[in-house]
Amino acid sequence: MELNVLILPGDGIGTEVTREAVRVLTHVAGKFKHTLHIREALLGGVAIHKTGSPFPAETEQMATSADATLMGAVGLPEFDKAPPDKRPERGLLGIRKTLGVYANLRPVRAYKALMDSSPLKNHLVNGTDMIIVRELTGGIYYGTPRGISGSGAEERGVNTMSYTRAEIERVTRMAFELARQRRKKVTSVDKSNVLETSQLWRKVVTEVGPAYPDVELEHLLVDNCAMQLILNPKRFDVVVMENMFGDILSDEGAVLAGSIGMLPSASIGDQKPSGVWVGLYEPVHGSAPDIAGENKANPLGAIGSVAAMFEYSFKLKEEAAAVNRAVEEVLNSGRVTADLRPKGTPATTEQVGQAVCEAIAS
Ligand code: NAD
Repeated sequence: MELNVLILPGDGIGTEVTREAVRVLTHVAGKFKHTLHIREALLGGVAIHKTGSPFPAETEQMATSADATLMGAVGLPEFDKAPPDKRPERGLLGIRKTLGVYANLRPVRAYKALMDSSPLKNHLVNGTDMIIVRELTGGIYYGTPRGISGSGAEERGVNTMSYTRAEIERVTRMAFELARQRRKKVTSVDKSNVLETSQLWRKVVTEVGPAYPDVELEHLLVDNCAMQLILNPKRFDVVVMENMFGDILSDEGAVLAGSIGMLPSASIGDQKPSGVWVGLYEPVHGSAPDIAGENKANPLGAIGSVAAMFEYSFKLKEEAAAVNRAVEEVLNSGRVTADLRPKGTPATTEQVGQAVCEAIAS
């Protein structure tokens, strides 16, 4: 198969973890005899430095023509005080919107080898295996009116949360389709006791449900869900929610998985005429300026994102499974980075990438 992949390393540890993800991508493509075409472009702080824009037109054009995009992370401390449209993170919102990737899938698994890395008790975390599906292109991060106006005591900040039926319906369907291939349960999360957007959300999800009679549907309020994710994570299979709730709750997944560096993500849009699904793949973590340039970032979230790319964009399940198996093998071997608190000397970012490739070869 021809795989046209755009690489956006971004800033900070984004470049380091992406290098290892590309190493694994290239290795697997070679092993399974696919033809891999890789192009690289600018996004985030590095793009502002080189072009003045966090999401240059050239990057936009290259992303639209690629089959799938693999991203590192964006964000540089020097832009922390810059206005929102001059910040690296604006590049992130830009590419998500351009690609129309409306469903962000975040698999959260508690690996046996990492049981002790989670601050939670083993018996709570053991057996956790869920996918959080976050709506990604609507809601309060994009809604208008927005802004800060007025002055003094009357200075006011405004954001708008809005959802259409169509936006809710398509992400709900994706959640049900995923559940069908798993343990057949969807939990929909909202705040319907307070918010009108959530009332519409619950109504639409409830209406979509009967089209999937083999899948169980439950509704949870977002505050209760925050608690249940920690108290009883095993009860969840596929959990679907709007953009901001998903942004916040999915970080709880990092606690369950042992380190934020472990978490991959896949953002999926519609199917292209070629049959490939539009997808943007990235680890959940940010650019981690505190450890950038030290070759100690955990690349497994980025590498897991390569597995997700094989699975969701190219439907190459065997290739995805090979990467996931290799990640598990490396975790069991204890050759892991410092964030996972290994017993001996921590491995470097590069050594972990190499170890995954070796595990795939063996
Ligand atoms: P962060 O995820 O970058 O870091 C949080 C903590 O986790 C840090 O202590 C960091 O060292 C650690 N960490 C993160 N990834 C790790 C990895 N792979 N291996 C080991 N340790 C890891 O979040 P932050 O510090 O809140 O944000 C830093 C910058 O990243 C900000 O500019 C922020 O806006 C940006 N950001 C970008 C994205 C993205 O590109 N998707 C996501 C979140 C934050």
